Amino acid sequence: MEEYKEERPEIMAAVEKVFSSGKLILGESVAGFERNFAAYNGTRFGVGVNSGTDAIFLALKSMGIGQGDEVITVSNTAIPTVAAIVSTGATPVFVDIDPSTYLMDVSKLEAKLTSRTKCILPVHLYGQCADMEAISRIAPGRNLFVLEDCAQSTGALQKGKKSGSMGHASAFSFYPTKILGAYGDGGMVLTSDQELAERIRRIRMYGTSKTYYSFEHGYNSRLDEVQAEILNVKLKRLDQYISRRQQLARLYDRELEGMGLVLPATTVGNEHAYYLYVVRHPRRDEIISELAKREIFVNISYPHPIHLMEGYRFLAYERGAFPETEKAAGEIFSLPMYPKLTDDQALAVCKSLREIMVRLG
Ligand SMILES: *Cc1c(COP(=O)(O)O)cnc(C)c1O
Repeated sequence: MEEYKEERPEIMAAVEKVFSSGKLILGESVAGFERNFAAYNGTRFGVGVNSGTDAIFLALKSMGIGQGDEVITVSNTAIPTVAAIVSTGATPVFVDIDPSTYLMDVSKLEAKLTSRTKCILPVHLYGQCADMEAISRIAPGRNLFVLEDCAQSTGALQKGKKSGSMGHASAFSFYPTKILGAYGDGGMVLTSDQELAERIRRIRMYGTSKTYYSFEHGYNSRLDEVQAEILNVKLKRLDQYISRRQQLARLYDRELEGMGLVLPATTVGNEHAYYLYVVRHPRRDEIISELAKREIFVNISYPHPIHLMEGYRFLAYERGAFPETEKAAGEIFSLPMYPKLTDDQALAVCKSLREIMVRLG
């Protein structure tokens, strides 16, 4: 949100435009942003919804997924990925990760398929796409949907294709700290499948289309006009934000090399959008407490695999079920990464890390 100072006049003009239009729900701003965001990502349709969580939930509902079905995903993700699956009544089934990219290990995917599997839900974690070619090879002939969780990968590319354009549908979040952030909650489903798009459009509003008549049980989950107009403004700068993130990643790569930290790995063919710059070390907890002493506060995304959380104990997974996921959760941490971070600030982080790593030996 540090861009606010610079962007304030445009943001305020966007808010004023919507307020004075008198149309606050599902008007021209949402329709316009849906078109623009779909075009940016290379899909035919966009449907604006309340949040990234709802984008996943409504996309799954539009695919007819519910009780008795299984959705394959990973355990090292934001809680909402799994919460949305569970909300449909379906069962999340986890696959372990590749320890170098922290993305779904697709070589372990096929073993998880059952007659109940209805969807594969790869998470493009930290800003880099999971192996969509391998996943897309598994889906055909099995009647499986592929839903991309793009909440962290806005603007990322794989072999020239934008994240969110490679599955049957994709879910985006405009939570304020995401790569494209609103000034409140927001989300979107993208798809090039007209049937899915129409169904999501319907169930985001009580199962209706225009009139007070419901065609199926639905929900209230709409992106609102104010957020959509603000996002329209910010979309113009999205590529700039992403280039700055990539620039900072190059700086970290260069400055942190040879220090003993495991640096982020980018798969061949991927262009990383660096939502997060995640490094790894077995003595992570000592490193971050030393950083805190130097007033550098870092996040861990995420410290707990979902299959080991109290809230998901009913899924009945044991510790040890996903060794790479569990090991990574104990060793990763994220360095400061946002477009307004200056080179000097990033260099100061690197300098502190160098001192700490030397002292650790
Ligand atoms: C943020 C996030 C979501 C959910 O988005 P909200 O807009 O906060 O509901 C889902 N999946 C992942 C991977 C996320 O990072």
